[in-house]
Amino acid sequence: MTTATNATTAPPTTTAITGIATLVTNDPSLGEGPLGLIQDAAVVIDGDRIAWVGESSKAPATDNRVDAGGRAAIPGFVDSHSHLVFAGDRTEEFNARMSGRPYSAGGIRTTVAATRAASNNVLHANVGRYVAEARRQGTTTVEIKSGYGLTSQDEARALTIAGAHTDEVTFLGAHIVAPEFADDPAGYVDLVTGPMLDACAPHARWIDVFCERGAFDGDQARAVLTAGKERGLIPRVHANQLSYGPGVRLAVELGAASADHCTHLTEEDVDALAQGETVATLLPGAEFSTRSTYPDARRLLDAGVTVALSPDCNPGSSFTSSMPFCVALAVREMGMTPDEAVWAATAGGARALRRTDVGRVNPGARADLALLDAPSHVHLAYRPGVPLVSAVWHEGTLI
Ligand SMILES: [Zn+2]
Repeated sequence: MTTATNATTAPPTTTAITGIATLVTNDPSLGEGPLGLIQDAAVVIDGDRIAWVGESSKAPATDNRVDAGGRAAIPGFVDSHSHLVFAGDRTEEFNARMSGRPYSAGGIRTTVAATRAASNNVLHANVGRYVAEARRQGTTTVEIKSGYGLTSQDEARALTIAGAHTDEVTFLGAHIVAPEFADDPAGYVDLVTGPMLDACAPHARWIDVFCERGAFDGDQARAVLTAGKERGLIPRVHANQLSYGPGVRLAVELGAASADHCTHLTEEDVDALAQGETVATLLPGAEFSTRSTYPDARRLLDAGVTVALSPDCNPGSSFTSSMPFCVALAVREMGMTPDEAVWAATAGGARALRRTDVGRVNPGARADLALLDAPSHVHLAYRPGVPLVSAVWHEGTLI
């Protein structure tokens, strides 16, 4: 018993990670360029926080020391958009789509049915598996949405399960109109903005809506987001993914933290994003997995828009949890430079979640970082598909 008490009250130990060939800090005051790059760097972790960052030769004395052996280090990736509370998968749908065969089975509805039928244990295990899978690839912060329950009880259950795995929980009752309300979409919006919101608001930080033809139009999306704001939730929007529409401008107007997808944008949409505080979160895994046209990141960046990247992990349109894969896609397919893509996958994701303690490696930040089996962060795009993440610290612990 004495030992246990000592273990829990012992002061946090300090660890120096030395011999980092290139360190991305995302703090321009610490190093070169927007990424705040430091060559031959060291990082000191004290408990769950970063205590010191600088040149390796100047690192202070610490309890422990880890030699990075000339590898690069980056902040842990911040994934601001995922749909991980689900059961089953949609292999047949994907196979049909990629094989040019017609496929008429239910899309999202298939996942809704499987998720409703699944036990809490199965859903917990699934979320845990995908979070662990993302973490092995360097992701140390992940947002998780509901959206495959579509009843008050099933949505609240999904949020509770998500909340056991992350603090960034998003209520997405307005993912699609629930099958039971196929003939009464207005009735479903009344449910989402009424009893379902009552059941879900205590378990979420964010509210989201899929603003798209076939899902929710501008007026319905406004009603959902406004009701959520009145309950203290902060909006984020699935906007302009499949077609032009009001989603992006609505997101900016309502002060949403993020407009996600942003694939079909008018000049007005780009101007709104450039003038507002809303981050444009691009999800190139969705375009990759549906053979669709990618969003134009270059256009957004040149207009001064803040851009984030996320894999959009979900069983239908983007079943990948890999941020390194998205970094490679962003560079190859969306006109981003390697530096911009790495920033968007770390600091950009933090902006999209309004977090200042993650997405950077500087004193006071949460000690989340990934070591790459490469001398530079550029290799994430230069060596696509190669598992470069060789070690991950999450809240100061090597996992
Ligand atoms: Zn999504």
